[in-house]
Amino acid sequence: MTKEIAYIGLGSNLATPEIQINTARNAITALPEVSEVAFSSLYRSPPMGPQDQPDYINAVMAITTGLPAIQLLRQLQQIELDHGRVRKDERWGARTLDLDILLYGQQMIDQPDLIVPHYGLKERAFVLYPLQEIAPELEVPGQGTTTELLASCPLDGLVRLS
Ligand code: ATP
Ligand code: MG
Ligand code: MG
Repeated sequence: MTKEIAYIGLGSNLATPEIQINTARNAITALPEVSEVAFSSLYRSPPMGPQDQPDYINAVMAITTGLPAIQLLRQLQQIELDHGRVRKDERWGARTLDLDILLYGQQMIDQPDLIVPHYGLKERAFVLYPLQEIAPELEVPGQGTTTELLASCPLDGLVRLS
């Protein structure tokens, strides 16, 4: 089976976010047909959208996987639920865990419940900086390399943690 390199954005701002990110990393690595390739530093970022919520901890993970993209999404959504993610009506509200597929090989996917590359990738410092850290030469289909994209993406309060 062909394997693809996929990049996953991890975010949490509830229930000790560093622990959420770490246990999510372990759960992703434990998935069938998934191996970890790289994991960025942790970053702290101010919330998007509603401001009356804690700062986020973010990271980006690279994996190789034989899972088709939609199956990978389903597995990630199950891990979100296992981490107590509650879906509310409010967009971008506080959450224990958010796992987004940023890239899946060089594929461009446009399905009702899966759009890849992730639409926020080039605007969101908390996605782009950790992604660029682990994949500086990576080509984002149709958009340039992560390093090129970084040049037009302000930090927006993002801090890299040691
Ligand atoms: P945002 O998508 O702006 O980062 P969010 O991550 O908070 O917001 P969610 O509530 O986690 O949004 O997901 C909403 C829907 O987005 C999901 O039901 C999922 O089907 C869809 N979706 C589309 N493309 C992707 C992707 N690349 N990765 C994860 N979910 C996606
Ligand atoms: Mg998200
Ligand atoms: Mg999401």
